[in-house]
Amino acid sequence: MNEIEELKLENEKLKNNNTVKSDLISISAHQLRTSLSAIKWTLKMFIDGDLGELTAEQKDFIQKTFDSNERMIILVNDLLIINHTDDINVKLDLKEIDILELLEQTLSEFYGEARKKHVKINFTKPQTSIPLINCDKRMIRIVFQNLIENSIKYSKQDDTVSIHIEYDNTTNSINMSVHDNGIGIKEEDKSKIFSKFYRAENAIKKDYSGSGLGLFATKSIVLRHKGEIWFESDNDSGTTFFVRLPII
Ligand code: ADP
Repeated sequence: MNEIEELKLENEKLKNNNTVKSDLISISAHQLRTSLSAIKWTLKMFIDGDLGELTAEQKDFIQKTFDSNERMIILVNDLLIINHTDDINVKLDLKEIDILELLEQTLSEFYGEARKKHVKINFTKPQTSIPLINCDKRMIRIVFQNLIENSIKYSKQDDTVSIHIEYDNTTNSINMSVHDNGIGIKEEDKSKIFSKFYRAENAIKKDYSGSGLGLFATKSIVLRHKGEIWFESDNDSGTTFFVRLPII
């Protein structure tokens, strides 16, 4: 066997190992999620008083257990997304989609949460029409979800989140931005926030339920679509995330 054939064989072996590893993560994470969901609904029945009235102290303990369980569900969901987006064997399911419609649909999932947190959402419709874009709808939805979710999560009460989308005909791409007036990203954290599991200290203090996987997955999806993602942030005026997706 010559050197090239050996390398090819080695490459095949690595690919197979990768598939086995990613299947294992997928199966374990799905199993975990099923059990965590069962626990969630039982705890919810206790909290809602469906299984008899609880004392205030019992309710407090059950609520804390419920919150921990919710955090584990978020973590497992993020692991599943990462496993899927990181897996080079998983091909993008590219289809022509109306990205404005997708953004509006995704946004509508967040109005309730924003109201609960007293955060206003300000969505500016594009000035010109946006052409259809060839992309993986499920993946791009994850990008929108992560950026919008973060902007609400890291906002302060009575802040406004502004979302904007435009077609840029000079670069033939779609530009999207999400701006918040929230806690901001400190200079020392700026180079790390797209890394797996990284969470800045001010973010942990504000909301300790994150996993630090959302932006890693988001960046990986944007790059797989040959796009770009970047942000501007300071402590006084908040953070803006920008995404540029080429019309491929
Ligand atoms: P998390 O689950 O912690 O939100 P992400 O991967 O989505 O994980 O984000 C990584 C880190 O980037 C966050 O923990 C936070 O420190 C920072 N970050 C992301 N979005 C924002 C934002 N809009 N404002 C301030 N910090 C942010």
